[in-house]
Amino acid sequence: MHVSVTTERRWLENDEILALLNEYGIPAPRQRFAATADEAAAIQAEYGVPVALKVVADGVVHKSDISGVKLNLAGCEAVKQAFAELQDALATHAPEAVFRGALVQEMAAPGQEVIVGIKRDPVFGPAVVVGLGGVWVELVRDSALRLTPITEEKARQMIAELRAAPLLTGYRGRPPADVDALVDILVKVGRLAVERPEIEEMDLNPVVVAPKGGGAVAVDARILVSPRPAAAAEVRDLSSPVRQLMNPRSIAVVGASANRKKSGGRLLHYLRKHGYEGRIYPVNPKETEIGGLTCYPSIGALPEAVDLACIMIPDKAVPDAIAECGAKGIRTAIVYTSGFSETGAEGKARQEEMMANARRYGVHICGPNTVGTVNSIARTTTAFGMAFEAETVPTGDISFVTQSGALGGSLLSRMWAQGIGFARWICTGNEADLTLADYLLYLADDPATKVIALFLESIRDPATFRLACERARANGKAIVAYKTGISEVGHRAVASHTGSLAGDDAVYEAFFRECGVVRVPDLQALADAAVVLSWQPLPAGRRVAVVSTSGGACSVIADECEKYGIEIPLLREETRAKIDQIIPPFGASQNPVDITMQVTVNPEMFGSVLDSLLEEPQIDVLLMMLTTNADPPAVEVAKGIVRAARKVSKPVVVARTGAEFLAPQSLAYYQENRIPVFPMPDRAVKALKAAIDASRFLAHAGQPPAS
Ligand code: ADP
Ligand code: MG
Repeated sequence: MHVSVTTERRWLENDEILALLNEYGIPAPRQRFAATADEAAAIQAEYGVPVALKVVADGVVHKSDISGVKLNLAGCEAVKQAFAELQDALATHAPEAVFRGALVQEMAAPGQEVIVGIKRDPVFGPAVVVGLGGVWVELVRDSALRLTPITEEKARQMIAELRAAPLLTGYRGRPPADVDALVDILVKVGRLAVERPEIEEMDLNPVVVAPKGGGAVAVDARILVSPRPAAAAEVRDLSSPVRQLMNPRSIAVVGASANRKKSGGRLLHYLRKHGYEGRIYPVNPKETEIGGLTCYPSIGALPEAVDLACIMIPDKAVPDAIAECGAKGIRTAIVYTSGFSETGAEGKARQEEMMANARRYGVHICGPNTVGTVNSIARTTTAFGMAFEAETVPTGDISFVTQSGALGGSLLSRMWAQGIGFARWICTGNEADLTLADYLLYLADDPATKVIALFLESIRDPATFRLACERARANGKAIVAYKTGISEVGHRAVASHTGSLAGDDAVYEAFFRECGVVRVPDLQALADAAVVLSWQPLPAGRRVAVVSTSGGACSVIADECEKYGIEIPLLREETRAKIDQIIPPFGASQNPVDITMQVTVNPEMFGSVLDSLLEEPQIDVLLMMLTTNADPPAVEVAKGIVRAARKVSKPVVVARTGAEFLAPQSLAYYQENRIPVFPMPDRAVKALKAAIDASRFLAHAGQPPAS
């Protein structure tokens, strides 16, 4: 069989499919093609067991849809009659299809039907999908996906992840199915997917999994091959140009202006206002001086080959400006200007022209169409977003890479307002040259970065991304990501079950899991998770103690924790006894602990209860759930919490639902002491969940963690 030299995109014939399954040791029932009813009857007689008859006709995709499958046939007459019925069914339901005969196939032992398939993603490569739900499979969408290679462990995780997994592992007296046989098939399909890049999609639907010990067989298979060569995943390391981009000792602002209403004016203004200490050279042929700085007529006229050219000129002039940079010996540039690949064919051509010049001279580019970058620690604000109207740019150990300048910028100012600073902030723009993965690789080894937050739409170079994640994990850095674009799933699903079962988002999910990237469900959670990871120690596990002043708040927290798989374990008797000493008799000393509104009279109670929980061995995280409190007693509560938190290396976070204006002093006190405060309990729980996941990923650095 010569599938690998296919020149057209086509579905394989049944004998080609069988040869392939056979080669990889994927079990299929005995089967043979029959052109006539007599041949079919003879095959059944030879097999000596009941058979299935399946119509073979050009142009038929789903055989049962046209009554093209007959099951459990034994004896000459039954087989012949079924053959005739298949012929009739085709004439009735698909008169345009050409009847060729029938496939005679041994009946599989009864069992659980599952679908196993290959989905090849253009960026991430081949993935294997397993799904449950029989004929309802596309309706219930109960599936799990993993990128290849598929190890036995991964295959077991996939099966465990299915909602209906108990149908396979045993449920209400139903005997467990032969999971080992299914695992074996998943591993083999994974290998096939890797070794046969010409296979674009494959469905084994169904694989019938017999009860334990009985094996599993693929009774129906469809394989789509295409001549498209598999894209080789290449790793590249551009961390040194990125380092230069982020740490320039001299900057040319090309398109500088004295007018702060213009982007070029704002860029120059922010650079100086936020304390850049390197050399700045405005470039603008119409000026000789801007804001006291000598202005140069062209890039060529600059007195030195600057470390970084910030280019903010009309789109048509950008490709030449990059060539001028190259000729001058300038090797890194940020192109802020838009009107490139994001706008259509003309812009795309312009971007290519720009990149041709960049490649000729070895210039590395951030952008085009970017808001820019910020290195807060080196006070280098090479960005023109309105966020930089702020008086100061606070520093911190979080670094943020965003594929959306506008949203990424707004998050920045929102976090500053809560006293949260960044080390680096990078808006990627169109990624004509430097990509999200290149920045990530730089941050992975950046000593100022402890936590990496990503706001992303797509990943272009998964191999580099993966390497960056490995390095970050090896360096103990957590990566949290918010990914948009979930809704555009599985568009070209029609032809294949696997395609409709697992959309592009499932591929990202699998990729993030393998890379140890913690995915958060929304933009707010990205910021919240980053703060917990930056300010607090990593949780050792997922067991949380909740202290609250309200029974209602306790149930909200309990619900949220359940939703995110966070445990609220029972406390030991001795701990409860200690707490009972502190709280009023109408409180609750069991987790979640309700210390009641008595705290308004006795604000130290919070800290004291917290103290008795610190040493509780089955607790990994402490969550303080406050409702409405006001300064000055709120300050006493805050002091108690901060004092207790200092004694322990477990994360402590506060959820406080009352409005901020009631307690400015206590909120400032939490902030100074790096205790995250969230205005709603769900935000606190979501952030903790991300911190717990991050901690688990980091504990498994060097190997993909189990789910
Ligand atoms: P299609 O998917 O084109 O409709 P299949 O070959 O998958 O056709 O057959 C439809 C259904 O018939 C299967 O889902 C399975 O339940 C049953 N079936 C088909 N072949 C066999 C077989 N050899 N042994 C047992 N059941 C079978
Ligand atoms: Mg089928």
